[in-house]
Amino acid sequence: MKDIKEIISYLKDKGFIYSGSSIYGGLANSWDFGPLGAMLKDNIKNEWKKFFVDKQENIFHLDTGIILNPKVWEASGHVGKFNDPMIDCKECKTRFRADHLIEQEKNIDAENWSFEKQTELIQKDIKCPVCQKQNWTEARAFELMFKTSGSKTSEEETLYLRPETAQGVFINFKNVIDTMNAKIPFGIGQVGKSFRNEVTPGNFIFRTKEFEQLELEFFIKENDSQKYFNLYLDKIKSFLLSLGLNKANIKQEEVDKDSLAHYSKRTVDFEYNFPFGYGELLGIADRGSFDLSNHSNFSNESLEYHDQKNNEKYIPHIIETSMGVERLFLAIISELLKTEQDGETERDVLKLPYTLTPYKASIMPLTNKLEEEANNLFKDLLTKDLGPINFLKGGSIGKRYRKQDAIGTMFCITFDFDSLEDKKVTIRNRDTMIQERIDIANIKTYIEQNAG
Ligand code: ATP
Repeated sequence: MKDIKEIISYLKDKGFIYSGSSIYGGLANSWDFGPLGAMLKDNIKNEWKKFFVDKQENIFHLDTGIILNPKVWEASGHVGKFNDPMIDCKECKTRFRADHLIEQEKNIDAENWSFEKQTELIQKDIKCPVCQKQNWTEARAFELMFKTSGSKTSEEETLYLRPETAQGVFINFKNVIDTMNAKIPFGIGQVGKSFRNEVTPGNFIFRTKEFEQLELEFFIKENDSQKYFNLYLDKIKSFLLSLGLNKANIKQEEVDKDSLAHYSKRTVDFEYNFPFGYGELLGIADRGSFDLSNHSNFSNESLEYHDQKNNEKYIPHIIETSMGVERLFLAIISELLKTEQDGETERDVLKLPYTLTPYKASIMPLTNKLEEEANNLFKDLLTKDLGPINFLKGGSIGKRYRKQDAIGTMFCITFDFDSLEDKKVTIRNRDTMIQERIDIANIKTYIEQNAG
């Protein structure tokens, strides 16, 4: 696995990720996804949606607002409670998340300690890792929700940017039942941006203030919690392997009872062995009936499910899987960007599964003299629903192969002088590097059969 500096410079150089707001001198810890990054991100989201929503018989998809009625965040327990402990070094002014500092310097899990206890240990025993001095503020609450405001008649109203997509799902639970004839057990998935004013964003795109989540809320009867929790544990494992991640780099961590979030009865985190060490990739939680009960109480709307067949009414329980697109993106690149020996030289190759590759194929004229004919073939292939393909001229064919290997393009198709006569092209496979001569008319079928 490459180190994080190599990965960042690779992603910047190739057009996957740019530093945010760079022409204005940047904005700390913000990143923009370039053309290839946007394509890869879309492919990750599509794969998630295919796997968890489209290929399931009882899962629906939603697209709810980023700004919701602020009561939603009172009912969910976020207002006033969604805080992290922040502590500052008075000497060099560096800010830390207190529990992370304790974990990092003393290897103690202090996530559930009171702010006083965290302050006491840090002030007594920890030097600032940046300036080595020991002069700390108190640890104090840092509100994670981003506030904004909207005008309601003549008054300003405090509104929040959602810190998770899940609440939009819970508040539409009844709408989905009423309009889609949904019957328990069923699920609702949502993909979208979430925002958290993290105390210490960092580790590249691992922790940022805005990010995208892939969340699935599965509504069940209480007694079925264990069964569906285990089912989703298995589904998550298959999904992660289908993205090309290696089992050996994935760790499953049962969160101990004392560290559970306020809404959770059980949580299992999946951690990935990133270049900077293990970090949370996703979580699966048994949220019990916490969310629907609270929304029911706060809104005065009954969110009971009426099981007409058995004539019973109850508040469903929820099994949630929640993952971050950027963390999956970083794990996939860390895992699949390889430098391989190719004869006397080396090549960088991004071994993405076909479904994730930004470009499925690249069309190359052997020399610029063949540009027009090769470009006609390219334009024709664009109409064949192969997915994104590109056209690459100039430079030696070997160098062009390398360029495409490095961005994960699965097939390179070379149009040469013989192609004018025999209506064939040479197609080269990214992973095996085997080249075959095939009929132009068969390109689509060949790709479909060899996409892997
Ligand atoms: P962490 O402990 O790393 O802060 P969390 O437990 O608060 O994460 P959840 O609330 O469970 O995270 O969110 C679900 C998923 O959303 C996480 O597993 C992660 O993939 C993603 N995620 C959460 N916060 C961020 C962030 N600031 N930047 C990028 N992705 C994030």
